[in-house]
Amino acid sequence: VQSRELNQNDRLVLTALGRAERPLSAYDILDQTRSGSIKAPTQVYRSLQKLEGQGLVHRIEALSAFVACSDQHDHEHRPGFVICRGCNSVREFEAPKLLGLAQEVAGEEFSLESVSLEIFGRCGACKDSRPETRG
Ligand SMILES: [Zn+2]
Ligand SMILES: [Zn+2]
Repeated sequence: VQSRELNQNDRLVLTALGRAERPLSAYDILDQTRSGSIKAPTQVYRSLQKLEGQGLVHRIEALSAFVACSDQHDHEHRPGFVICRGCNSVREFEAPKLLGLAQEVAGEEFSLESVSLEIFGRCGACKDSRPETRG
């Protein structure tokens, strides 16, 4: 079911994201898929849009990056993300009440389009290590 209507590019993008343990930007994906049939950023964006629409990939708004859905399912779901500032690891969690809460906060009049919950901090491993002085 998950690969229905996916073309070769879509599969390349999905595989790159599935292999990655960190969120990837469109350009990271392009770097990893360039040897195949993908030549331009627009092809990556097109595939990402399709995969996102099918719920196979999620966008992390704050990072402008993408992750493969950790839980393959057909229905649309409302994931939230716990993101470590230290190692950039992302953990997806199910937030079924998010939409209701968002609508409540925004008010009945407000036509809700999307909701995202992105929680930033440091994971157990990074919390105990000294902050890196990279860059
Ligand atoms: Zn998901
Ligand atoms: Zn970490």
